[in-house]
Amino acid sequence: MIGEQRYPHLFSPLELGFTRLKNRALMGSMHTGLEEAPDGFERMAAYFAERARGGVGMIITGGIAPNREGGYGSKLSAPEEAEQHRLITEAVHAADPDVKICMQILHSGPIATTPECVSPSGVKSRIARFAPNVLDEAGIEKQIADFANCAALAQRAGYDGVEIIGSAGYLISTFLVQKTNLRNDSWGGSWENRMRFPVEVVRRVREAVGPEFILVFRISAMDMLEGGLAWDEVVSLGKAIVAAGANIISTHFCWHEAPVPTIATMVPRAAFASVTGRLRRELGVPMITSNRINMPQVAEDVLAAGHADIVSMARPMLADAELVNKALAGREDEINTCIACNQACLDHTFGGRQQVSCLVNPRACNETRLNYLPTAEPRRVAIVGAGPAGLAYANVAASRGHRVTLFDAAAEIGGQFNLARRIPGKEEFSETLRYFGKMIETRGVELKLGTRVSADMLADGGYDEVVVATGITPRTPAIPGIDHPMVAGYIDVILGRRPVGSKVAIIGAGGIGFDVAELVSHAGKSASLDIPTFAREWGIDFENHPRGGVTGVVPQVEKAERAVYLMQRKPDALGRTLGRTTGWTHRMTLARRGVNLVAGVEYLKIDDAGLHTRVNGEPRLFDVDTVIVCAGQEPLRSLHDELLARGVKSTLVGGAFEAAELDAKRAIKQACELAAEV
Ligand code: FAD
Ligand code: NAP
Ligand code: SF4
Repeated sequence: MIGEQRYPHLFSPLELGFTRLKNRALMGSMHTGLEEAPDGFERMAAYFAERARGGVGMIITGGIAPNREGGYGSKLSAPEEAEQHRLITEAVHAADPDVKICMQILHSGPIATTPECVSPSGVKSRIARFAPNVLDEAGIEKQIADFANCAALAQRAGYDGVEIIGSAGYLISTFLVQKTNLRNDSWGGSWENRMRFPVEVVRRVREAVGPEFILVFRISAMDMLEGGLAWDEVVSLGKAIVAAGANIISTHFCWHEAPVPTIATMVPRAAFASVTGRLRRELGVPMITSNRINMPQVAEDVLAAGHADIVSMARPMLADAELVNKALAGREDEINTCIACNQACLDHTFGGRQQVSCLVNPRACNETRLNYLPTAEPRRVAIVGAGPAGLAYANVAASRGHRVTLFDAAAEIGGQFNLARRIPGKEEFSETLRYFGKMIETRGVELKLGTRVSADMLADGGYDEVVVATGITPRTPAIPGIDHPMVAGYIDVILGRRPVGSKVAIIGAGGIGFDVAELVSHAGKSASLDIPTFAREWGIDFENHPRGGVTGVVPQVEKAERAVYLMQRKPDALGRTLGRTTGWTHRMTLARRGVNLVAGVEYLKIDDAGLHTRVNGEPRLFDVDTVIVCAGQEPLRSLHDELLARGVKSTLVGGAFEAAELDAKRAIKQACELAAEV
């Protein structure tokens, strides 16, 4: 296979003595919400089996609590609960007997979603719902015994191993860090005492499962907390955990409450792998690294550099179950790459209401529900608009055997994603367009770019189905002076067709307003493409590894020499509609660049003096030389209406269907679902 030559490290097996991994690609743990769904175990079986068929060497499930008080969701503490897990292990081993599957034991400690939650000292986490109960000696012993019981039940359910998560602000890590462990008994105080709990958990789990069972421990290699773990503590903990019986150490970076992004799209690829490498030189056991490793070449480079023995790709396996097989076959261009947007995965997990899926692959976690079956009746399908909606529709329809023609007025595919990918920090969005470009070519879609389609062209084209995916048109607010020469639309600004002055007002603070503010306030290298710049901008010290890995000094960021005002009419704080897990990073970035966020604005007029407003009722003139309009969007449906007038039925999809609260997640999902049925 081409991939074995191209990625020799990724495709070399790993011996663990009693067992071996067929390659170095791991599907990392992700809580999907299926753990708690009524038919969740059937759906998880299909979801994991598809990834096993897709070529990974090992899978780690989403977190399962060892008891009620540690619960974030599903628990495994009784024999009858182990039976459900058999559906998963049998499906995975049937899909490929060489694929190993480990269950993650997640005791959420103070961030468990139950008033029964526990912690060493009762310190409430910033992100917790409940104040935790303080563990007494008997309570600590119970938690340890529950870990061991849970691991034994996982073994009985047919898993090849367990991963114990000892990081992120969950129970184990709260014993380690001084600010959450205020005890002065044998479980707190000195470092030896603080690490007693994790070591004891690992020792008792090993005792319960015997020697021939994989035991992965996830360690906080950089917790990103001021006053967090020092490097020598990380090393000594790792050594003690290995001595207690772990055979693989996995590195984790960040507590959930730490104000440093570690997996968002603005984080450079493999930014943290060198930290794993440093620990690997100390511990001498197989090490797993993770975070923003989304393509086989990135994984190979990390392994070849000696940073790790195994590469964890979690979200990339949502985006493309076949990532590893595609790498093996030399079909990397066909990989549907995770763009680290978090919009359909972590935003759903932390939102607590929606089950996880993937923006670029809405089949993820819906393997039993959304299938693209070959059609018995191939039809001629015309799709107008090659934005995310049109591309997704074309890809699915063609994969099912329909004969598809895809039109776009522009010279390239992508629609608004061609704007998004030009925003510093969103470079990954280009991967989605590379994927779609390759797939429509591979699937024989007839692509007609530079073609503005009229109703006449379609009415006479002999198509069985017409899909209108023409997207949106930017909204022009009715402000006196909106046609003043200083006013520019966001499209012209992003494409560099309009110069931007030194004093800028941005009307509208939705996703696009924030992106435009990022663009016009940015200077220098894009941090997402340069690890040292990223580290500087977020106060991380990879070289000296102070406590937590963070310097504690407010980072100095490079910024454009211009005053920027980002505005909205609503009186609320700006950025409320941004992603749950990423919105804060955008707000923080703009604040560090000195962008002024102005709420409660009434736009009165624009003239040579600037933008006249009332802010919270008070008149205010913004003496600006450029006004950029990012005031939302309206659906572009003129073609649909013309077709209707001529009696031609068409299907609306994406922004053309509904522009309000439109994003690519909705556009792609809707397109895939419709194309699955055509
Ligand atoms: P569009 O992307 O608008 O595509 C419509 C296409 O139709 C265009 O290519 C157009 O040329 C073509 N067309 C129109 N009329 C005709 C015609 N008559 N004949 C031929 N072709 C025609 N979404 C997210 O989910 N996450 C993000 O982080 C994100 N960031 C963004 C950042 C920016 C700067 C922008 C502008 C948008 C961002 N979006 C983001 C929004 C996302 O890009 C849109 O929701 C998505 O592109 C909508 O897809 P669509 O296919 O419906 O429409
Ligand atoms: P949006 O999120 O709806 O924001 C529109 C903004 O314009 C709001 O701030 C709104 O606030 C303002 N506005 C609306 N009507 C106005 C009017 N008549 N006059 C003046 N201001 C007006 O839309 P968007 O920013 O255009 O983004 C489009 C879609 O792309 C969004 O739904 C978003 O999900 C997606 N997107 C997502 C991301 C991301 O990072 N996830 C990034 C970019 C885009 P007020 O009404 O308070 O003034
Ligand atoms: Fe990756 Fe976004 Fe899909 Fe999550 S939703 S897996 S971050 S592409």
